[in-house]
Amino acid sequence: MRVLLSGLVAAALAGSAPGSAPKPSYEVFAVRYATLVGFPKKYLVMGADSVPLDLAMMVWVVRGEGRTMLVDAGYYREEFKQSWNAKDFVSPDQAVARLGIRPADVTDVIISHLHWDHADGADLFPRAKVWVQRDEYAFYRDPANQRNSGVFPVDVAMFERIERDGRLALVPGDSVEVAPGVRVYIGGRHTKQSQYVSVPTRSGTVVLASDNMYLYENLDRHRPIAATWDSVSNLAAQDRMRRLASDPRLIVPGHDPAVFERFPAAGPGAAAIR
Ligand SMILES: [Zn+2]
Repeated sequence: MRVLLSGLVAAALAGSAPGSAPKPSYEVFAVRYATLVGFPKKYLVMGADSVPLDLAMMVWVVRGEGRTMLVDAGYYREEFKQSWNAKDFVSPDQAVARLGIRPADVTDVIISHLHWDHADGADLFPRAKVWVQRDEYAFYRDPANQRNSGVFPVDVAMFERIERDGRLALVPGDSVEVAPGVRVYIGGRHTKQSQYVSVPTRSGTVVLASDNMYLYENLDRHRPIAATWDSVSNLAAQDRMRRLASDPRLIVPGHDPAVFERFPAAGPGAAAIR
């Protein structure tokens, strides 16, 4: 009886029913590696005016269950640094080092889409499995589809190297589990096949929207992102994020600097999403 009771207590403490395995849980951090100054809001929120915003350039850390995962990898190549001249730039691997994460510690990098500012840093993490939607990768490998797309040959070549290295994991569509409890979803067409991520945490389910929802304003005013192939599907994706997240405040937009005001600081340039 005593053994049974202590087993029940242990199961209760782990937050799960007796006999079932404890639910996976992760810590999530937003990490800022640069600021893009004076970016017009009309390129972010459909129907908005040209008011200039200082965009947070972010990657997201998901840590737990024996893994150290990143959602997106930022950029670091000289050509992008020079053409955008962002303020307070720190290479994304150095930005996550502030949380004590070394490049070789990163087990997985989930790329939300192949735009330069989210994908370019994927090869900074030499041991990581790199997750990309299969249709996104297939589409942008065709040079004809790279033109004016925000996806660059140098990054496509990098992903081809990662693939040859045996580290590229192509995601076959919607609602796919990439780690225990961590799932990716089709993102309402910011690019050919962008994706976003849900993560179980002690505060509930967090949704890392990346560019499928640029700013809090997209969600609050129910406005599609300005850069989408399909604004109806973008709004549907945002509506679904509301259903997936335990609370709308746990939906993290791709570039909103207010993330660092709404969540507690967790070191320089980092906020704990909880
Ligand atoms: Zn983008």
